[in-house]
Amino acid sequence: MPGFELFGAEEKKEVQDVLDNGVLMRYGFDPMRNGHHKALELEKDLASRMQTKYAQVVSSGTAALTVALSCAGIGAGDEVIMPTFTFVASFEAILSVGAIPILCDIDDTLTLDPEAVQKAISSKTKAIMPVHMCGSMADLKALKSICDTHNLILLEDACQAIGAIYDGKPLGSYGDLGCFSFDYVKTVTCGEGGGIITNSEKYAERAHQYQDHGHDHVGNDRGAETHPFLGYNYRISELNAAVGIAQLRKLDTIVAIQEKNYTFLKNALQSIPEVTYRRVPKTGVESYAFLNIFLPDENLARKAHKALGEHGVDACFYWFDNNWHYYKKWEHLLEQKSLGKLSQEIQMGLQKNNTSFDASDIWMGRTISCLIKVGWTEEQLKERATKMVNAIKSIL
Ligand SMILES: *Cc1c(COP(=O)(O)O)cnc(C)c1O
Repeated sequence: MPGFELFGAEEKKEVQDVLDNGVLMRYGFDPMRNGHHKALELEKDLASRMQTKYAQVVSSGTAALTVALSCAGIGAGDEVIMPTFTFVASFEAILSVGAIPILCDIDDTLTLDPEAVQKAISSKTKAIMPVHMCGSMADLKALKSICDTHNLILLEDACQAIGAIYDGKPLGSYGDLGCFSFDYVKTVTCGEGGGIITNSEKYAERAHQYQDHGHDHVGNDRGAETHPFLGYNYRISELNAAVGIAQLRKLDTIVAIQEKNYTFLKNALQSIPEVTYRRVPKTGVESYAFLNIFLPDENLARKAHKALGEHGVDACFYWFDNNWHYYKKWEHLLEQKSLGKLSQEIQMGLQKNNTSFDASDIWMGRTISCLIKVGWTEEQLKERATKMVNAIKSIL
């Protein structure tokens, strides 16, 4: 998955443009910038690649989610439904706008289970936030239909699946708003950065203003700009955006290499009938960032994960035990450990999450995710496939 594997002359050239004129900020200083507007250029490229009308780049994927929620008017006391398997950024963003993250079971897609979502809806629900974990996606059609029935916002977290496709569209562009992360370990990296895509002019304008303190961006005098609403600073720097321009151009190459490496490893594993695979929705095409496999039960998955490590197969994750990605280890959320005082409304709302998520536990207990790298040589790939097969066969 990591774009940093392909960091080279193209990224350096883009960054050099910024260093040559010294304008590190995206707004103002026009006479000095030699026509370079890196953040703006990255936004144009992102919107074009994702076939959306608008894109806004910001300082991180977490910021992208936060800005997207704010654009959609989500605030105090509103509930946002999110999966038990994701990254901590999901609930951080929801809490940061004063809303309440409501955890919800996943299914064999390793993303939100539409039936569980249906049951989690209350009179306070405002949005559904599917998270397309590890290169594949939620059943967006089913989620969209739930959103349409209940008048909810569909906000896609596509941070781990840039380059995937759903229903013929670039993943992230199906819902009302889609978010990407360009942090250092993502498929496309700016070092730190994030992006929001949408076809809504209203959301796009709000995003542009909100991420820059609510400035209206009218005219050429920053000091004379008015503030239609309260905002914040989630701006990306020109240096980070410059890296992203070169990286985004490599996206299709990265996905093609990932598909080739993923397919090679999957073909090798087909010789083991006990290994099965994550379900990809009918009209979906993965980004192939990870190969996600199921073992028949939790005990075998733990053994297989251990054996993979012992056989020298790196970058295979057993998320069930992971501190960052699975709800069981989010004691700071579940026990409400906040530095400042949480509002009563949030304290009460969060208690809804102190329940069990049995379906999630079953699927995650069985899952091992293997990162797909782009830099492997043919020889390394073959060796890896052999080691993976031997490791898993050794515990069956
Ligand atoms: C990385 C990630 C984020 C947050 O992105 P940052 O740029 O690190 O803030 C959000 N959601 C998911 C699923 C991620 O993997």
